[in-house]
Amino acid sequence: VAKEQGDGFYHFYDSIIENQRAESMQLENELKSALRDGQFTLYYQPKIDAVSNEVIGAEALIRWIHPEYGIISPAKFIPLAENSGIILDIDEWVLREACRQNKAWQDQGLYNFPVAVNISARHFYQSNLIPMITRILEETGLDPCYIVLEITEGTLIKNVNYGIQIMEDITKMGIRISMDDFGTGYSSLSQLERLPISEMKLDRSFIEGLTDGSRKSSLVRAVIELGHHMELKVVAEGIESPDDLKFLTELKCDEFQGYFFSKPLPGEEFCGFIRDWDSSSVIDIFDSEK
Ligand code: C2E
Ligand code: MG
Ligand code: MG
Ligand code: MG
Repeated sequence: VAKEQGDGFYHFYDSIIENQRAESMQLENELKSALRDGQFTLYYQPKIDAVSNEVIGAEALIRWIHPEYGIISPAKFIPLAENSGIILDIDEWVLREACRQNKAWQDQGLYNFPVAVNISARHFYQSNLIPMITRILEETGLDPCYIVLEITEGTLIKNVNYGIQIMEDITKMGIRISMDDFGTGYSSLSQLERLPISEMKLDRSFIEGLTDGSRKSSLVRAVIELGHHMELKVVAEGIESPDDLKFLTELKCDEFQGYFFSKPLPGEEFCGFIRDWDSSSVIDIFDSEK
């Protein structure tokens, strides 16, 4: 059990925090060999349309299957990878793998919808970002309309004007951009209107405790309205219960993602989920409460 939960890694992780220099060198080497030895894999979490209840997309989320420590969460190693150049190689691997897999599933007739990929802030300002995306699209033959890049608000702290320019270059390629963890980071509302994004993802912290009747619901309502005024799709992350779903449906949220529908799944299991998905099962939840 300890192995599956990556306990060994957490001890290692603690020692990195305590003893920065030596241990982070070791981690960087571990991440390099993990890439080389194929220890990374992508899990996929479905996104559900609020009106049709159909699966209309997925987010690719990286997992590190460590031979000794087991499955390691990206929340643990991505921040560390971001402190070294290795994040660039990881992001490139993720994008290539997500595009390859999406194309393969489409070719097999499984579905036609976009897969969203998280791009770290550090990568965003690299001059090779656009050439890298172009190369991967050519290699995999995936139409750019089937990728969404998720960036966080923090990405724009560095240089808003330059950031917007890069975003515009990306959208000109036919790739959509989603603002991830919306409301937890930079949050300069005056700039929001300038951003060429097509979607905002409300951070899970907005959804937690939403149905307790707190003032949070007024806040969430206002944020969703703001998004709609800017002609953005509003996605709620972290839907865990039927109550969350009901509430956000009433608030006219457009899309849902969360454990209530499915945890992120390995590719094979994700295919199974798509095949078995019955959009009417969601409607049953509402009906059963009447
Ligand atoms: P994120 O992009 O905001 O991803 C959403 C996270 O929420 C995922 O955690 C997902 O498993 C989790 N989640 C989804 N639904 C629920 C729910 O109903 N309840 C709860 N409690 N959690 C839910 P995960 O996979 O551990 O990823 C954590 C973060 O690591 C991501 O946050 C993203 O910032 C980063 N990350 C993940 N994969 C990649 C990647 O391939 N590249 C980069 N650069 N970052 C990544
Ligand atoms: Mg994300
Ligand atoms: Mg998020
Ligand atoms: Mg996040």
